[in-house]
Amino acid sequence: LGYLYPPIRNLGQLGLTLTAATAGAERLQEILDAEPAVSDPARPVPEWPVRGWVGFHGASFRYPGAQRDSLHEVTFTAGPGELVIVTGPSGAGKSTLSKLLTRFYDPTAGVICLDGVPLTDVPLEFLRENVALLPQETLILHGTIRENIECGRPGATDSEIERAARDAVAHDFISALPDGYDTEIAPGTAMLSGGQLQRIAIARAMLRGAPVLVLDEPTAGLDSVAARRVVQPLRRLMAGRTTIMITHDLSLAPDADRILVVDGGRLVEAGTHDELMAYAGAYARLATPTAIPTAGLGLDHLAARSV
Ligand code: ATP
Repeated sequence: LGYLYPPIRNLGQLGLTLTAATAGAERLQEILDAEPAVSDPARPVPEWPVRGWVGFHGASFRYPGAQRDSLHEVTFTAGPGELVIVTGPSGAGKSTLSKLLTRFYDPTAGVICLDGVPLTDVPLEFLRENVALLPQETLILHGTIRENIECGRPGATDSEIERAARDAVAHDFISALPDGYDTEIAPGTAMLSGGQLQRIAIARAMLRGAPVLVLDEPTAGLDSVAARRVVQPLRRLMAGRTTIMITHDLSLAPDADRILVVDGGRLVEAGTHDELMAYAGAYARLATPTAIPTAGLGLDHLAARSV
């Protein structure tokens, strides 16, 4: 479970009830029931203060029974506090990359490291504490808003929860509800907008405080106004953390330390926004779909930063 949830046994302590009444809860139940595809290391490394280096070293992955690799020999690093944006067409392998980094699966070839330690040597619970996934579809549990934020770090105090909500620009709309933080919400709730639910998920992630964040399409499904409203909370969440952001929305790309373009499971370009725009290749076409000619600019000497 790389999701922003504590180990499952802690959910009960929060008094959160899971029901199968909604699609969201069914999905959560599926996750709870899923056979883990990975196991704890036989010889785990001792826990250490994680700095947030992420390294993919020739990582490939093929889903069980599939004919071809969904990721093929992907190599890149992200330093502590860096923002790395992963983009590319649908089906390119971006979500697969996030599933490997959160160790839903292990690569079929190559190695993925946290601070230079292969993920397969890291105790799973420790990995979950340090590498947090903000999934594409906000997972909301039956319970109060307070509990939904608190499950980022069970036992957090009310003032810590409120501070996280303020940082996520969620405090004002929560306080405006008749029951405030005690408002009962549930998966699929119509009471809050998609953007508000996303900000609750961001508050949960703030509280979690993992040094490495994996954001899967954080603005997908939001209209442009709602998407703009989550940018500031996202920036605060990412500050000081290594962030791997999977997105088609390239509005934050100029801020990224590195942009990775994945296509057909391969890393086809890597560099900063300016480098890749000058390279005038796949990224430039994604960033300006109609304006960039595909050839003849004579810019081939401006090769993207090698990976
Ligand atoms: P999108 O932008 O549409 O979310 P993506 O870049 O995240 O796409 P992935 O979801 O990583 O792409 O999928 C990469 C490839 O792996 C696709 O060809 C997809 O069909 C395949 N794939 C994804 N999940 C599975 C699975 N569970 N079993 C088999 N193949 C899968």
